[in-house]
Amino acid sequence: MRSFFLLFLLFSSLFLTAGIFTSSQVQGQNQDVYQLMMEGLAWDRSTINVLLVTPNNESWWNPVYINSTLRAIGQWNDAIQSFAFNNTQYAYLVALKLVPTVSNESRPGFNIYVNWTQSTIANSIDDIGLTTLSSEGNAITDCNINLATHSSHGDALADGDEQNIALHEFGHSLGLGHSNYTGDAMYPALTLLGPPKLLSTLDLYGIAASFAWMSFQFSFYPVSDWLSGDTLFMPSSEYQALPVSAQNARPQTFQNNPTVQNIVLIGEILLHPDIIVLIIFFAAIYVVIAIVHPRKKAQAPNPPQ
Ligand SMILES: [Zn+2]
Repeated sequence: MRSFFLLFLLFSSLFLTAGIFTSSQVQGQNQDVYQLMMEGLAWDRSTINVLLVTPNNESWWNPVYINSTLRAIGQWNDAIQSFAFNNTQYAYLVALKLVPTVSNESRPGFNIYVNWTQSTIANSIDDIGLTTLSSEGNAITDCNINLATHSSHGDALADGDEQNIALHEFGHSLGLGHSNYTGDAMYPALTLLGPPKLLSTLDLYGIAASFAWMSFQFSFYPVSDWLSGDTLFMPSSEYQALPVSAQNARPQTFQNNPTVQNIVLIGEILLHPDIIVLIIFFAAIYVVIAIVHPRKKAQAPNPPQ
């Protein structure tokens, strides 16, 4: 038992230096260094079952968010497969997948539960997503993801924003912390109505570290060496976005088109009570003037006699 443990540690440290850069490796190079913090927790299973619990008869609910969230799950599965296929040392990740189920009621037996609430979730006014992990030692035992459907200003979130938020929260559910790179899906802030977030090689190195136990074909055995909550470092030159399949990409719908969103915004401004009252007021004045001073009809010239 003890020798197994030591062997495991040895393999773990080899693994971690194979693809993940330490701060000393990247120091001295004249380029940006991106970071990803780790939660220090990992799942002890490669098939992770996700239950999406949809709200019942809530006036603020829009079922479009089910598809946004399913696409975010699909993005993770796409990125995991692509990364495992292109990096032989991480080929073990090919067995890792998130398996979603949608239900209008909570049911036992799932690993991750997704719930929606109308607006801000935590005490902070800008929290639009929250992931809570329960653990025993280093092993994650339960995970709850809470997604908001409305911003802190009360505006319904766009389909694409919900996908970006869910993508970020599922990163936490898999053991990732935050990245310091503003373009990364794990960056802790999100610009609403921004472009679709893509998963990166940095995010997937984090996943490879979190699921390192899968490479040994042994059962899960938490070892502090690779689950210590360390930060991963990567030179910006190594950073790449990972592909997403067409079915999981944000759909090019009318609603997601930035031009249409601007027109809708202008329409909302014009329909604002203060402005519409002014428009009606001037329209009424115009009508009154038109009635009081009707324009004389142009008379046809007299026919030649
Ligand atoms: Zn976060």
